[in-house]
Amino acid sequence: MKSKIKRKCLVFCLAILMTLGGCERKPEKVQSTGTAMGTIISQTLYVKDAEGDRYTEEVLQEIGLLEGEISRRIEDSEIAKLNSNRSSVVSDELLQVLQETTKISKDSDGALDISIGELVLLWNIDELLLEQENGKIPTKEEIENALQKVNYNNIRFEENNVILDGNIQLDLGAIGKGYACDRVLDYLKKQENITGGIVSIGGSVVTYGCKPDGNHFKIGIMHPREDGMYLGFIEVMGECFISTSGDYERFIEVDGKRYHHILDPHTGYPAESDLCSVTVVCDNGFLSDALSTACFVLGKEDGMKLVEKYGAEALFVDQNLNITMTSGMEKMFTQKMD
Ligand code: ADP
Ligand code: MG
Repeated sequence: MKSKIKRKCLVFCLAILMTLGGCERKPEKVQSTGTAMGTIISQTLYVKDAEGDRYTEEVLQEIGLLEGEISRRIEDSEIAKLNSNRSSVVSDELLQVLQETTKISKDSDGALDISIGELVLLWNIDELLLEQENGKIPTKEEIENALQKVNYNNIRFEENNVILDGNIQLDLGAIGKGYACDRVLDYLKKQENITGGIVSIGGSVVTYGCKPDGNHFKIGIMHPREDGMYLGFIEVMGECFISTSGDYERFIEVDGKRYHHILDPHTGYPAESDLCSVTVVCDNGFLSDALSTACFVLGKEDGMKLVEKYGAEALFVDQNLNITMTSGMEKMFTQKMD
C-alpha cells in the first residue's frame, strides 16, 4: 500500500516537473549569418524550443521571398514586370508601400524618388567598385539624359493598378531592406516559441520581444570614417526598426572625390548634403529605410523637419563627424568613447 502511494507521488512529481520544463524552458540564444538582398543577414533569436535553426532558416526564406517580389534584377518579380509592362495590378501590400513612398517623395521634395532606376543603372556603383580606377564616371550629358527619366509624379495609381508614365524605371533599393524587416517582424510574431530577437539586413535592423535577461537590445552604429569601428550604440526594447544610410557603404574615390550610392535626384550626382550618415528609428521598417535615404539627401535641417513630420527619431553625422540628434534619439544613443 505504502509503495503504491509512493509510486503515485513520484509519477505526480515527474508530471509536474515535465509540465514546468515544457512551458518554462528558458529561451536559448540562436545566432546565424547568411546572405540575401545582396547583403549580410545577421540574426540573434531567443527560442524556447529546439527548432532554432529552422527559425533562422525561415527568416532567411522570408527575406528571399520578398526579394523575389521587389528586386528589379529578378526577371519575374512584381517590380521587374511593372518596369517592362509599364502597368500591372499589384498586391494590396505593395500598393500601400508604393503609395506611401510617393507621399514621402512629395514631403521630401523629391529627395527620395524610387523612379530613379535609370540613374542608378547609369552610375552602376557596384560595377565601378569592381573596376576601381578603370571605372568610368558618367558624363554630364549622360546624367542629364537619365534625369529626364526620373520623376515620381509619373507613378500613377488606379485602384490596384500601378501605371508608369514617361520612361521611368522603379528601383526599390532605398526601401527594400527596411520593408524586409517588416516581413521579418510579421514572421517572428507568429512563432509562439520565439520570445525575442534582433535581425539585421545590411543597414536595416528589426528588434522584437525581449532578451531573457531583461536588458535592452543594443544596436551598434558604424563609424562612417573608421572601418569596422562603431560610433556608438542605440538601445531599444520590444518592436523597433533602425535604418542607417551612409556614404561609406559603397563608394569609390576618383581624384580625391568620393562617389557613393545615394544619389540626389535633383543633380543626378551622389548626394552632397554635408552628411556622411543618417540613422532613423521608428515603428515601421519600410518607413525607417525610406526616411534614412531621404534625410541623407536632404541634409540635417530639412531631414530633421521630415523625421519630425513622421514621428521618427534620427541621428545625423556630418562630414566633420559632428552629431545632431532628435530629443528622442538622445535618450537611446550612447556615443562610444575611446
Ligand atoms: P542601402 O541600400 O545601403 O541600404 P539606402 O537605403 O540609402 O542604402 O538606399 C540606397 C539605394 O537606393 C541605392 O543603392 C539605389 O538603388 C537607390 N537610391 C539611390 N539614391 C536614391 C534616391 N535619392 N531615392 C531613391 N532611391 C535611391
Ligand atoms: Mg534607405
